[in-house]
Amino acid sequence: MDKTGKPVIQVKDLYKIYRVGDTKVRALNGVDFTIYKGEFCSIVGASGSGKSTLLNMLAGLEKPTKGEIVIAGEHMEKKTENQLVKFRREHIGFIFQSFNLMATMNAVENVALPLTFQGVKKAQRMKRAGALLDMVGLQKYKKHRPTQMSGGQQQRVGVARALVVEPEIVFADEPTGNLDSNTSEEVMRLMRRVVREKNQTLVMVTHDNYLAGFADRIFHIRDGKIVRIEDNTGRRDEAAGEGPQAQALPEKKEDGARGAAGNGGAD
Ligand code: ADP
Ligand code: MG
Repeated sequence: MDKTGKPVIQVKDLYKIYRVGDTKVRALNGVDFTIYKGEFCSIVGASGSGKSTLLNMLAGLEKPTKGEIVIAGEHMEKKTENQLVKFRREHIGFIFQSFNLMATMNAVENVALPLTFQGVKKAQRMKRAGALLDMVGLQKYKKHRPTQMSGGQQQRVGVARALVVEPEIVFADEPTGNLDSNTSEEVMRLMRRVVREKNQTLVMVTHDNYLAGFADRIFHIRDGKIVRIEDNTGRRDEAAGEGPQAQALPEKKEDGARGAAGNGGAD
């Protein structure tokens, strides 16, 4: 959003090469970018283009073959497993495609769970989890278990759980992959609103160009490379609207590394 703000994620010359038998798969093939505090960035590309690999690498869940990842001033690629666990717990929230809620726990208990790992006392946990559920519009569903909620409601719980620890950065991998299109849009707006309120940085991976358009900037990934970065902020401020402005307005062709790529990549 605010490109004069401080960089929170810096990726430099990043490679991830998997060896499968005799063949090498270049899942990430030289990636460079910077994401600034308060931005909502989407990474969009077809299946197999390297999105999950990139997100896993940013989150320190996998080690790069080569390159640097600096998050909140710290080099992820230099950390030990234990340091990474601690770093994630303190700085990062995750929203998963499959929601990953605990089936035996109700909504408020699910949202409170990450706070247990931070040693927050029970009364305080419940209070903070309850406030987050209010924020995502689930005030009436605090006692509901996952099976007693719709997919969209479950993902709202997922969003609340990711944000309850007030992470600087939120990563979401196909967060609406299991939701219908209307519910997906609602979850996009919700994520965008809540991270903006707290000036958090959101990085979302998706294969869906339309949903990617809800972000401030859209990174197009293809064969392990960022081939184009679209800036939506000007359009969003003009439109001052709710929707994915990239689609509402004509494509800018001249700023593209590959001209007519607008709707090309996704599967
Ligand atoms: P996306 O999330 O965009 O669908 P991925 O990041 O999962 O793509 O995968 C990128 C490429 O890397 C694909 O060709 C995939 O087959 C390959 N790949 C991903 N993970 C592994 C792995 N653990 N071992 C070997 N190849 C992998
Ligand atoms: Mg993936």
